[in-house]
Amino acid sequence: MKREGLILILSAPSGAGKTSLCRELFKTFPDMRESISFTTRTPRVGEVDGVDYFFVTEQEFKSMIDDDAFAEWAVVHGNMYGTALKTLEEARKNGIDLVLDIDCQGALKLKEQFDGGVYVFILPPSMDELRRRLESRSSDSQEVIELRIDKAADEIKESRWYDYIIINDNFETACSELSSIVIAHRRKTFRMMEQVGKLFDI
Ligand code: 5GP
Repeated sequence: MKREGLILILSAPSGAGKTSLCRELFKTFPDMRESISFTTRTPRVGEVDGVDYFFVTEQEFKSMIDDDAFAEWAVVHGNMYGTALKTLEEARKNGIDLVLDIDCQGALKLKEQFDGGVYVFILPPSMDELRRRLESRSSDSQEVIELRIDKAADEIKESRWYDYIIINDNFETACSELSSIVIAHRRKTFRMMEQVGKLFDI
């Protein structure tokens, strides 16, 4: 009996610290893999096709929708993003633990259509702290910051239907909480039976 891969879905408003938490997660669990999404957005400097995203045209994306190739997809900031069903099915079948960094709309679609994922929402400690974090990133204009704050307020309402919520106040604490969730799901009996079978011949 092959161990079933864990599908971990992470969502967070911009500025909550999801990228840093993800980076730490991959350091703690080097065997976890990041799901590579399809997107119609143009690559940023340094981004590589097939590594950061599969960059496709709108026509290609739409034809994947028609072929039911997506487990979920959504329009985020005017671009289309989607997770291929094949990515999830192959990881699960091959016992690979996969992390999906997707927005709330996509996560909700996935929860409705795909069994067994683990949904984690990462929150900032307060709206004031979120604003402070966004303002300290010198890259964004005040207009973009205001848009992100408005969007964050809507996204935070979506946290209610996630399986777990992490409040990223202290980074180390948030990292250990995220790791604990992964460890608990890795220790689920149905994921342990392959190893138990090998160890004890049952
Ligand atoms: P970016 O363009 O900055 O890489 O990502 C923008 C947003 O798109 C992020 O909030 C990210 O979570 C979301 N996103 C990335 N890939 C997917 C995907 O496959 N599906 C959905 N629904 N959202 C995605």
